[in-house]
Amino acid sequence: MSTQATRDIKGGRLDPSDYAENFSDIHPPLSRHEALVEADRCYFCYDAPCMTACPTSIDVPLFIRQISADNPKGSAKTIFEQNILGGMCARVCPTETLCEQACVREAAEGKPVKIGQLQRYATDHLMREFKEHPFQRAASTGKRVAVVGAGPAGLSCAHRLAMHGHDVTVFEAREKAGGLSEYGIAAYKSVDDFAQKELQFILDIGGITIENNKKLGAEITVSGLAADYDAVFLGIGLGNVNALGLEGEEADGCVDAVDYIARLRQATDLSTMPIGRHVVVIGGGMTAIDVATQAKLLGAEEVTIAYRRGKDGMNASDYEQELAQTHGVTIRHWLQPKALVLADNGSIAGIELEYTSQANGTLAGTGETTTLVADQVFKAIGQQFDGHPLAGSGIDLDRGRIRTNDERKTSLANVWAGGDCVRSGEDLTVVSVEDGKVAAESIHATLTA
Ligand code: SF4
Repeated sequence: MSTQATRDIKGGRLDPSDYAENFSDIHPPLSRHEALVEADRCYFCYDAPCMTACPTSIDVPLFIRQISADNPKGSAKTIFEQNILGGMCARVCPTETLCEQACVREAAEGKPVKIGQLQRYATDHLMREFKEHPFQRAASTGKRVAVVGAGPAGLSCAHRLAMHGHDVTVFEAREKAGGLSEYGIAAYKSVDDFAQKELQFILDIGGITIENNKKLGAEITVSGLAADYDAVFLGIGLGNVNALGLEGEEADGCVDAVDYIARLRQATDLSTMPIGRHVVVIGGGMTAIDVATQAKLLGAEEVTIAYRRGKDGMNASDYEQELAQTHGVTIRHWLQPKALVLADNGSIAGIELEYTSQANGTLAGTGETTTLVADQVFKAIGQQFDGHPLAGSGIDLDRGRIRTNDERKTSLANVWAGGDCVRSGEDLTVVSVEDGKVAAESIHATLTA
């Protein structure tokens, strides 16, 4: 299908001052007074369900009690003991489906204790005020560990290993360390270069060296690292977004949402980010929400998320869906992509969508279609693990990702793995941090046995 060109993609849709305002901190930090008042709402439950719901098992009632006692530094230490990326997790965790959903105040009155914001209050305080790192390194073990990937899993693993006295080299494919914290989250969730500040905080323990621009399968290999180091941890994440499988997908205006979010996060001038007047996002997860909301904040006139199932089928939480909607994004359910509409010049002009329905758990197109005008179509339909860098390594996979046991040990004797490249839980920052921590403890036990 082809039509007259309607393409309208450009930067600078807003007044310069609007960019700073639109991309400011979505949850401004609590003041000391606000934190004390909020901490007072906690019942300090025995067998606290919020703690069980946290993938890193942070002692939530303890850290809130320490805030109540006006001891934010002690509170932060309680958090960091379990989750060294507690500052980033306080910003990006879907608390509404984790600790805050489990909070007894949510069940009783629909208003949970603001655990995420209290966590941010404590961790920000310590990171702002600390003179020396809250954790010290143990005496050197003389063991060397290679960590591949400087994202949440890799950094969590590296920090815990360094704390136990091992020397760690982190190999990172990109120019900057941080992984998804640096490249993969909505800009308004982490402002003021927080990902790099957190990275420096982690490195300040000592014993960790980062080597950037070292890609697995290119400059480094699993077998090479396994031969050179006492242990290897792989935290290599996922590949790019899945393809729509439609003709014309390479057309100008059909955009990989993960790649766009990364570019937006690295942009020093947001007015340079090209955005369409009419934008359609295909997908139902956090990437879809993040790219749609940011498209609106960049000045797109009309942004529509099209998702093939109903509201409850979306991976994005109710809170995130509402966040997008309050920013003016329209979410349309039960629609799947059928064909890209191309203008005569070959660029995207719209997308044809087919209505869907579900019977006995099976989703099917109904045959009815609708067409949305679009200058840009963002693909946000999930990512897949790219196993090519592991070729020839002998590492076993499980349903397309690296197979590990409970200690995050792979099928190779001295290689562990964690984060999104393994199948240990939801693809969340906090789950990756836990993977890295669990793997580090297993590596430490193995190297010191
Ligand atoms: S469940 Fe809620 S009230 Fe109970 S300890 Fe956790 S945060 Fe406090």
